[in-house]
Amino acid sequence: MNTVSLSNSPRVVFAPGALSSVGSEVSLLNKKRVLLISDESATAHATSLKSELGSLVIESIDHVVMHVPDEFSGPIVDRVRASEVDLVISIGGGSATGLGKIIALDCSIDLMAIPTTYAGSEMTSIWGRTHDSQKVTGRNPAVLPKTTIYDPELTVSLPLSISVNSGMNAIAHAVEALYAPEVNSEIKSAALEGIAIFASGLRGISHNLGNLSARTDLLRGSMLCGFSLNNATMGIHHKICHTLGGMFDLPHAPMHSAVLPWAVQYNQNFATTQLNDVAEALTAPSAALGLWELAKEVGAQTSLKEIGYPLDRTNEVADVISSAKYTNPRPFNHNALVELLSNAYTGSRPNDES
Ligand code: NAD
Repeated sequence: MNTVSLSNSPRVVFAPGALSSVGSEVSLLNKKRVLLISDESATAHATSLKSELGSLVIESIDHVVMHVPDEFSGPIVDRVRASEVDLVISIGGGSATGLGKIIALDCSIDLMAIPTTYAGSEMTSIWGRTHDSQKVTGRNPAVLPKTTIYDPELTVSLPLSISVNSGMNAIAHAVEALYAPEVNSEIKSAALEGIAIFASGLRGISHNLGNLSARTDLLRGSMLCGFSLNNATMGIHHKICHTLGGMFDLPHAPMHSAVLPWAVQYNQNFATTQLNDVAEALTAPSAALGLWELAKEVGAQTSLKEIGYPLDRTNEVADVISSAKYTNPRPFNHNALVELLSNAYTGSRPNDES
């Protein structure tokens, strides 16, 4: 098995077939009582893990809810507190990892994550939950998995639309990390490599979902983009998506994909060097155009209209965004934000100029 070393990150085990190393990784952490969380797509993997780990698994959850509503996680947290669980293992997409993080946070228990999408949460100390219908997020080292196991074979079943939108969501983390105040040479090279890998890997699976070599590349890309997210403050793109997600409950990854080219265009003249690097990684004339063309080519979402964004609420959205504190190369500009949202709504093509 390959282990990968990145600063401020979990221990990473990365290899096709790495699922078979879960038992030895649990032993390495010296854990004896496991709660196994799996989403609906990972039922078969959870069954094989249970048979491998045997009596170590004392609790299991086989259903998750996106954005971890308190009504869903609360009873699970109570159950875990009353048990002697000393390790949470999550297997599935970002929603499974997200539930694992809330249990790790509320019950002070270590987490091992086995991701099956490209969300990147398994590399971060960021948690998210829904409280009184509001999504809240925060950072806490307690939720950074102790170990993350990347097994590309688990991602071969990921349908095209989830793969490509989840990939665009991962790219968004890397793009915004490049113009974050914390950027350093390690973040920069991880982010640019992550973007380039996604551009080729998403094209690689768009005609053959079972392409294990492209799937392996994509999972490496999601590790690098997740690393970028963990070590940098996100800008206006994430502020917009957080606001739209909270106000209209739009689907997370497709919304990121539709907004990203236009958020990048908004920042183009305020982070020119960084966005020209993104354009180069995408081999495109500009970052905005490169991202839009990639999304179009692989079938990711480019239009907010198609996912139910109500354009007539744009002024309200702009007011919410202008009243929030966030870091971004370009200061808040009401008219430019309205234009950004209108372009993302129609999904029109950015122009060729950088
Ligand atoms: P998801 O976990 O909701 O999964 C989407 C769908 O794909 C689900 O139906 C799931 O069952 C299915 N699926 C997952 N893996 C599969 C596979 N290999 N084969 C077939 N189907 C599969 O979606 P997501 O995009 O992975 O995660 C989104 C969530 O993660 C959001 O709540 C988002 O806020 C959060 N997130 C958190 C961070 C962080 O750092 N905290 C980072 C990124 C995303």
